[in-house]
Amino acid sequence: MTEPYDLLVIGAGPGGYEAAIRAAQLGLKVALVEKEKVLGGTCLRVGCIPSKALLESSELFHEAQHGFSAHGITAEARLDLAKMLARKESIVAGLARGIDGLMKKNKITRLSGHARFVAPTRIAVRAADGESEHEARRVLIATGSKVASLKGVDIDGERIVTSTEALSFASVPQHLVVIGAGAIGLELGSVWARLGAKVTVLEYLDRILAGMDTEIAADAHKALAKQGLAFQLGVRVTGARAAQTGAIVDIEGKPSLECDRVLVAVGRSPYTEGLGLDAIGLALDNRGRIPVNAHFETSVPNVYAIGDVIAGPMLAHKASEEGVACVERIATGHGHVNYDAIPSVVYTAPEVASVGKNEEELKAAGRAYRKGAFPFMANGRAKALGHTEGKVKVLADAQTDRVLGVHIVGPRAGDLIAEAVAAIEFGASSEDIARTCHAHPTLAEVLKEAALTVDGRAIHL
Ligand code: FAD
Ligand code: NAD
Repeated sequence: MTEPYDLLVIGAGPGGYEAAIRAAQLGLKVALVEKEKVLGGTCLRVGCIPSKALLESSELFHEAQHGFSAHGITAEARLDLAKMLARKESIVAGLARGIDGLMKKNKITRLSGHARFVAPTRIAVRAADGESEHEARRVLIATGSKVASLKGVDIDGERIVTSTEALSFASVPQHLVVIGAGAIGLELGSVWARLGAKVTVLEYLDRILAGMDTEIAADAHKALAKQGLAFQLGVRVTGARAAQTGAIVDIEGKPSLECDRVLVAVGRSPYTEGLGLDAIGLALDNRGRIPVNAHFETSVPNVYAIGDVIAGPMLAHKASEEGVACVERIATGHGHVNYDAIPSVVYTAPEVASVGKNEEELKAAGRAYRKGAFPFMANGRAKALGHTEGKVKVLADAQTDRVLGVHIVGPRAGDLIAEAVAAIEFGASSEDIARTCHAHPTLAEVLKEAALTVDGRAIHL
């Protein structure tokens, strides 16, 4: 019998494949099982990367139509959707080849097929050409998530679709109804609106971007509405069905909406189907997640779980951090994720980004804080870019001045938030950011000025 693997990872998303690489770097003998042909998980195949490729392309198209003339450029923009979609596919394929190469470089055994527990350290892998069984000292579950469905909404993949199909519409819908004003609804709604669709977003809550700082989300709402996205907030969708030529969406207490496509974007749920958790006595929590302790250990010895399949924000970088921390702890006894320093970014225009606590959370916790905000409008680089919407908001402890949260709506917010994440990671004060030299003219100066504003001494306000 062959020597068991030190670690067998189930699922090659950003959580699983990065855990596999780190474990191999630390000297473990590692196998990685993936049921899809392409490694990279939801994030690479049908998530982060293809959506960002389309966001970039569609933003350029929109800029060419509506932004160029302000720069004194006249250009006629014509859409070649097939080429735009092909570019997205080739980005995904290129990155997938990169992950294949990393598996080889790190001598990780790749097992193709659907994994199922036979025993806590024995895994059956079912592929088209049959089933094989594999022994491992430890197993890491990184099986991710799947699209959440909505009662009364029949997703047919054609007219009523999930994010996966909405990344590949062969033509621009005339009227796209989006159910859910979270990251997926707003990002993919933006893509198709920029390409010419009428987009109506239906949201159950009375606000968009639940969980984000209320003031920042309200600014994003205003900016997106100005771009032409129509919002109906505080409405509950009770059903959606395909009609002869399009689809019909039913809303509680309101007239139904007719459209030609519906995107269901009401969240994602953990994916554990066919994993055989019953066979090892591993029970899920009431939301279908795998319960783990601070070291990502499940209730079954030698079985670990990370990423979308456990509690916490469903974000690629959160999954990766957990995967690395989990295997470092296994191999070295140390490994830790700082959940206060996990950023969240929504790649609309303007982008929305945040890290740490928002104002509502600080108020609810009774924590005394000081606040400094600074608008992009007063920043030279933002003016030069022609993107002056939005602001940076810094929240700092009233006594110690330690940065507790930073919230940004504005150009390149997703890149700017990295400095705030580093500040929180290092326990910086708002004074530390304020006294750090920022290159001029850059968008990052807005963060510096917001930090100065905490102490009432912004230079340009
Ligand atoms: P996944 O990436 O879901 O990977 C799990 C893998 O396990 C899959 O490949 C699956 O095929 C495999 N698997 C499952 N069960 C088995 C089994 N039994 N046997 C073998 N293989 C199995 N997050 C961000 O941080 N930034 C973004 O910009 C962003 N954009 C997104 C856009 C969209 C449209 C979507 C849908 C998601 C987006 N996300 C984004 C979320 C992000 O994709 C997930 O948080 C992330 O992929 C989770 O990583 P994971 O490793 O936990 O799981
Ligand atoms: P979400 O949970 O972020 O948003 C879903 C929205 O749908 C919520 O606002 C909810 O109130 C609303 N909703 C639920 N039921 C409804 C109903 N019956 N009628 C109307 N509205 C209803 O989920 P999502 O946008 O689908 O994203 C799924 C996951 O993927 C999230 O966890 C997100 O973090 C992740 N993701 C992240 C990014 C990013 O980081 N940029 C991008 C895309 C997806």
